[in-house]
Parts: sequence; C-alpha cells; structure tokens
Amino acid sequence: MARVSVLGGVGEIGGNKILVEDKDARVMLDFGMSIAQRARFFSDPYVSPRRAESLLSLGIIPSIDGVYSWDTSETKLDAIFLSHAHLDHYGYLSMVHRDVPVHCGETTERLMAAITETKRASFETDYRGLGYKTFRTGASVKVGSITLRPTHVDHSIPGAYGLVVETSTGSFVYTGDLRAHGRASHLTQDFAKAASGSDASLLLTEATNMVGGSVSSEEEVARKLEVVIREARGLVMASFSGMDTDRLTSFHRAAEAADRKLAISMRQAHLISTLDGDGHIDGLPKLAKGNVVIYRRNKKRYEKWEEEISGKAEVITSEDLTAAPKRYVVATTLSDMEGMVGVKPSAGSVYILSSSEPYNEEMELDMQRLIEWLDFYGMPLYHIHVSGHIMPQQLRSLVSGIGAKRVAPIHTEHPELFLKFALERPDVGILPVRNEWIEI
Ligand SMILES: [Zn+2]
Repeated sequence: MARVSVLGGVGEIGGNKILVEDKDARVMLDFGMSIAQRARFFSDPYVSPRRAESLLSLGIIPSIDGVYSWDTSETKLDAIFLSHAHLDHYGYLSMVHRDVPVHCGETTERLMAAITETKRASFETDYRGLGYKTFRTGASVKVGSITLRPTHVDHSIPGAYGLVVETSTGSFVYTGDLRAHGRASHLTQDFAKAASGSDASLLLTEATNMVGGSVSSEEEVARKLEVVIREARGLVMASFSGMDTDRLTSFHRAAEAADRKLAISMRQAHLISTLDGDGHIDGLPKLAKGNVVIYRRNKKRYEKWEEEISGKAEVITSEDLTAAPKRYVVATTLSDMEGMVGVKPSAGSVYILSSSEPYNEEMELDMQRLIEWLDFYGMPLYHIHVSGHIMPQQLRSLVSGIGAKRVAPIHTEHPELFLKFALERPDVGILPVRNEWIEI
C-alpha cells in the first residue's frame, strides 16, 4: 500500500515536508523551513542555530533516514519535488544529501540560483551543489512506481506548481500554495482541472487564509497603488516582497502612470535579471531598457554580484532621492530607514506597506519600529496588499471540484475550522497528524 506522511506543515503555516512511499520508491514533496517552530527557540541574528544536530533534537527538521548530507544509512530518498521557491517550502534543502535530485519548475530553478548567489550562506542557508531537474506543466515524472504530474498555479511568486501524484494503489493531489485572485488565476484553474480528473483518493490542501478572508485582487492593488502614488507630493517609499514579480509589476506600472521611476534594491534587480531569460513572466520590467533604476545604499564594500548588477542598470543613491524626491518610488525595508536620515523626506511624502500585516511578535516589534521612523519623518502609512493564498470560499469550491475521497488540510493554523467549513460531506475530512501515515 502506498502511503503519505506529513512531516512538516501540520497546524502551522508552512514548513511543508511530505514523505511519499510506494513499493521501493521514496519521494519528498517540499522540504521547507518551519519558521514558527524555529522561532520558538531562535531569534536572528543573535540567537541563531549553529548545528544541524540541534535542529534535529528540537524537531525543527524531521528525523528520517536517507535524506541528509551526513546520512550514512542504506535507505535512500529518490527525489524531492519542490512546489515553489518560498523559504517555507525550500528552506531546509540546505541539509539534503546532494545526490538526491530536486525536481522543480524552470522558473524555480532560476530563483534558487538567484537565492544561492545573493543570500549570505550559513550552514542553514547554503544551497550550493543541489542537483535540479526541471519540469513544466503537463510533464509526467516517473520515480520508480510513483508518477508525478505538475500543473502550474497562481501564487505570490512565479513558477509555483501543484502536483497530482500517482502511486500503485491510487493517486493523491497536493496543492502547494495557490490563489485564485492573482494576475495569473487561470493557472490555478488549469491545476483544478488536472486535479479533478485524477480520481484522487486524497487531497492535501493548503488552507492558510481561514481567518484572513478578503475580497480583492492584484489588479485592485495596482489601481490603489496608482491612486496613492499620483497624489503623493514628495518621496514615495514602499515595502514589498522581492520575489513577488506580480507586485513588482504593479508598482512599476503605478510608478510609470504617475511619471515616476521605480527604484529597486540590488537584490530585486538581480532577480529581474535572472528571470529575464525565462520568457514566461508577463510584464516584468526590463533593466536594460531603463524601466527601473537601482537604489544603492552606501556601503564600504559590495559583493561581486552587487557590482555586476550595478553595471546593468541606472544606479541612484540617497543624494538623487534628496535632489528629486518626486521622480521616484523607492523600494525599501526597515533597515533602509536609517539611510533616509540624509534624504529628509519632504512634507507630502508617503510610505506604502505592501506585504501582510504582522502575524507574530517579532513582526509586531518591527512594525512598531517602522512606525517610530515614519513618525520621525512625518510620513503616513498606506497598507495596500493582497494575499498570496486562496480565500475560504474559493478554496471550498476548489476542494469540491477536485472531489477527492478524503481531504486533509495542511499549511494552516486552523485545520478544524477548514474541515467544518470547506467540506460538503464531513466524513471525508482528515485531521493530519505530524509523522503519522495516511494510506493511499
Ligand atoms: Zn507556503
């Protein structure tokens, strides 16, 4: 009998690690970092883990044979399938034995290359030497008696996939992370179609937003950004995820409509340059055409990749922002706020927060610090955002359309709420338990 065990992502948002066994074949779906589990014991930069051993003993990474780079057991993991390049799905690939192939979408491979090059590597974030094998929608990848069929989905990062997994005793569906209100929501429809035709005996679905429902879309975000940026009378500062190319495109368009240039970080510029050759991401600004400029913070020394990327676009500094604040929308993070002391944003400048509201203590504290800075500079805060995850009612209809015989919610803090709300027949619901097997 084929079987599945959820080793991470139960009762929490992310940290997905799903083990599939069928006859002699063993496959993992995602190998994410559980940010919540890790934060119980650690707080960067001063209290960071230093040894994989401690992560194992604390249960932050699962204790399984045949997976880790230090493993000497006979058991082997045949492959890992990565749904998308978010930390809560790829994070602990750093620990994985380099002989294990990592299957992912072509865009995800590019993103992983960018992450590997630009992230400061500790033992926890060193992704060098991983062997990627890429797929596209419609592919069928055979690993022993298991066949995996990926289909693209819409999420807050390009190159995200859901999977239909066929085993010798039946098939199951894994949604990865997805939504139905992004600019590419048709991708999620393609996945829903593929999944509903799979006669799945089990659906493992994300259910992130059970208490975060809202009605909005990426298009609406773009319209709101345009309104705020047009009316701004000084500098516009903005904070948004560097990996969310949809959001980057929304900011770029809104800035252009208001006759301003979007100034992005070196890391964001590196990402655009990495994705430039992909050809599958609509509307992404081009560095070479001067669509966007790079805002370069003053530092003593720049990394090699920072020097290289600076040569590919127009670079501005805080002096340029001071001289012509109305010419720019500048992407910043909390750590850039100090650098703005020299800029002294003029009256009428605004700050746009375009990421999720704080959902833990650490983020609450950062939010308070941000507000202190905004008080100091005299900038009001606009919160303009839409989630990367599907809304409850859309999720309910996705689940019903897939029609799996059993449904298990993961990647959520509210699995019971999901089971009560999202299922037409309560008897198909399963509350997954970490490390326990579910038969297929
Ligand atoms: Zn996730």
